[in-house]
Amino acid sequence: MSPIKFELNRFLSSAKSSATYKVMDRVASRRASGASIISLSAGEPDFDTPLHICEAGIAAIRSGQTRYTQVAGMKSLREAVADKFHRENQLDVSWKDTLVSSGGKQIIFNALSATLNEGDEVIIPAPYWVSYPEIVQLCGGRSVIVAATVDKGFKLTPAALRSAITTRTKWLILNSPSNPSGAVYSRCELEALSDVLSENPHVLVLSDDIYEHLIFDRTEFFTLAQVAPSLRHRVLTMNGVSKAYAMTGWRIGYCTGPTWLIEAMEKLQGQQTSGACTISQHAALAALTGPQQFIHESKTIFQRRRNLVIELLNDVPGLFCEIPQGAFYAFVSCQALLGRVTSAGTTLSTDEDVVNALLDETGVAVVHGSAFGLGPYFRVAYATNEELLNSACHAIRSFCESLR
Ligand code: PLP
Repeated sequence: MSPIKFELNRFLSSAKSSATYKVMDRVASRRASGASIISLSAGEPDFDTPLHICEAGIAAIRSGQTRYTQVAGMKSLREAVADKFHRENQLDVSWKDTLVSSGGKQIIFNALSATLNEGDEVIIPAPYWVSYPEIVQLCGGRSVIVAATVDKGFKLTPAALRSAITTRTKWLILNSPSNPSGAVYSRCELEALSDVLSENPHVLVLSDDIYEHLIFDRTEFFTLAQVAPSLRHRVLTMNGVSKAYAMTGWRIGYCTGPTWLIEAMEKLQGQQTSGACTISQHAALAALTGPQQFIHESKTIFQRRRNLVIELLNDVPGLFCEIPQGAFYAFVSCQALLGRVTSAGTTLSTDEDVVNALLDETGVAVVHGSAFGLGPYFRVAYATNEELLNSACHAIRSFCESLR
């Protein structure tokens, strides 16, 4: 008798695994078979977590802070989160209207899971972070992808937003600085979007500010709730310590939003993780309340790397990249490479072909733009040292020059 085939949840069955993780898996298996690979695929800073933050985690263990905390997070951390929103984003927030979760990703998951019913629509400007549509799918919603093309600076325009909104729209997701384009919305641009949102009181907004501190040149960071106080009752402002303090593995994200939504997310989290890791919460408290010098140092280093990568790649025939204003990604157009043939005989028909050939023939790993909803591009994460960035860009150059 053949074994019974158990069915997976139907929302999970139709969701895709993360394209970024898939590339990272390919890198790991190529390395395991002895290949030398430069990976520009991972979305995490390459720095160590600052020492005073690690020490706070160690001190928490030593002093027995190893039990559950309140589901929504320790009061002291939620107060620090409220203080951060007040200090840096001019948001007057009570600690009670904050929530701490296991990473920014869980904040997004909680918010969508707590509010989406089948058929509800979520507007996502493309290019987007790979996880947004999959989280929407897992929560039973429907993504409405709106192309934010290079001529619009990879940003959603008020006209595009207006025509995407329907009576079923539940959420708009905004991400500035953006993964993968590095685009940053100005105060003016957010105000223009907020005018459209004011006409549509049934739409909630998730403002994903996780790259807030990685912002270059003289660009200023603004978040929607700050520039449009009249929308505050339907904006969830999300952030976290992963990118700002090189704490990706500690898994702490946080948010502020309307009381009803925070309470619903807390209820969900109570049945899910019971709250974020206590030790990590102590470390995050040290990150938010301790010296902030690391943020300035890492931003300076990332800006230097950005300049290097953009200069080298824009000099490669067939590639083009806008200068990103934030995050640590370059979103490179490879349109001019399509239709050409590599020295190993592979025809490049899509950006995924370009990325696969780059990995196989040059040992450089990047992620194809179509995974972020907009091709033909590839995303370069410049979260690695300048020597490796130099070698990778030179390898990409040789690859492009050798195409027939
Ligand atoms: N939002 C964006 C745009 C991201 O790129 C990421 C991580 O790559 C996250 C949210 C989630 O970050 P974390 O869960 O590490 O806090």
